[in-house]
Amino acid sequence: MLEDLEPVKTKRSCKTRFTLDGLEDKDREILVSALLDTSKWSDKGLSVALGQRGIQLSNESIGRHRRKLCSCYN
Ligand SMILES: [Zn+2]
Repeated sequence: MLEDLEPVKTKRSCKTRFTLDGLEDKDREILVSALLDTSKWSDKGLSVALGQRGIQLSNESIGRHRRKLCSCYN
């Protein structure tokens, strides 16, 4: 009965990817750079700064994407 046993793929959409896709090219470049620049931007610091610009993106979402634990990478 377990012949077809496979890991269940959780389709949790990545909020960071979703946010990037919704930005203009120039803004997307800026956010991609910020995501890569972990010495300047902490997960929380980036989340708060984005919130001040009207973009809701949680530090948990940013952290999962940065650590490649989000749906972008599996
Ligand atoms: Zn992601």
